[in-house]
Amino acid sequence: MMRKIGAIAASAVLAGLIILCQAGCIALRKGIDDGMETSGDAAAREGWMVIIDAGHGGVDAGKVGVNGEEEKDINLNISLKIKKLLEEQGVKVKMTRNDDDRLAESQIEDLKARVSIMNKEKPDLVVSIHQNSYHEETVRGAQVFYYTDSAQSERAAELIQAAFREADPGNTKKAKGNSTYYILKKTEVPVVIAECGFLSNREEAAKLADEEYQQEMAEAAAKGVMRYLEGE
Ligand SMILES: [Zn+2]
Repeated sequence: MMRKIGAIAASAVLAGLIILCQAGCIALRKGIDDGMETSGDAAAREGWMVIIDAGHGGVDAGKVGVNGEEEKDINLNISLKIKKLLEEQGVKVKMTRNDDDRLAESQIEDLKARVSIMNKEKPDLVVSIHQNSYHEETVRGAQVFYYTDSAQSERAAELIQAAFREADPGNTKKAKGNSTYYILKKTEVPVVIAECGFLSNREEAAKLADEEYQQEMAEAAAKGVMRYLEGE
């Protein structure tokens, strides 16, 4: 009888130990998960941050439109509009430039300075705003480029491209991967280059110089960015 009670007691102790151990493991596992979540979602909890990079500036006009409009000015106008729209959504926005001045004397130093800001600030996403140009006048439509080796960059590009196409049903362009553009290659956070249209196309160049159309492009870009941040 005593031996049986002893055996029952021993089993009970053993069972208790197993339960304790499992609970301990679950607690430990949860701690690990929480820890990972804290580092991964910290930005989302504290608020998203996006860098808008208005390409070119100063003596570097970028592409010049068939109408004489300079890319650097269109880039800055659209970038400032995206900044405002994202801030209205509670997103913290940093600009690589707020005025006409580029960041350094030479083009390569300018690009290095932009990349250095991006890598230092570590935003959730960088959107570099540019305008395109092509030797065939008929080519038109906003197009977004992503870094080929980054799934996040690709997803952001797809979402912004889709928003551009919603805003301009005539646009048949698709998001495109690239592994050689300096900004895509050197930036350590997800980055996309949004070419909002072709300055070599007469109709599109005229639209890109128009403030209302710039606002439409900015709204599309901001919509794509929000969809990316919200994980849609
Ligand atoms: Zn450009």
